[in-house]
Amino acid sequence: MQILVFVSLLSVIGVVRKIVKAQKCPSDEQLRQSILFRNKRDETETDRIISHLGFCEKCRNKVSEFNEL
Ligand SMILES: [Zn+2]
Repeated sequence: MQILVFVSLLSVIGVVRKIVKAQKCPSDEQLRQSILFRNKRDETETDRIISHLGFCEKCRNKVSEFNEL
């Protein structure tokens, strides 16, 4: 029984860590690379930035500025 609690605790920590990582704003350069050039070398990073854009208005505004250039 205790091992089950431990295992589910670990998976919760894993999810939280992922969310915290996604919340950190990428640099302008990272945004540009991922959005404009669809950075193929680092698709995990691109995925992270895309999901970050889902809830970060600040970065979404930056991206729309890039698109206007
Ligand atoms: Zn952001």
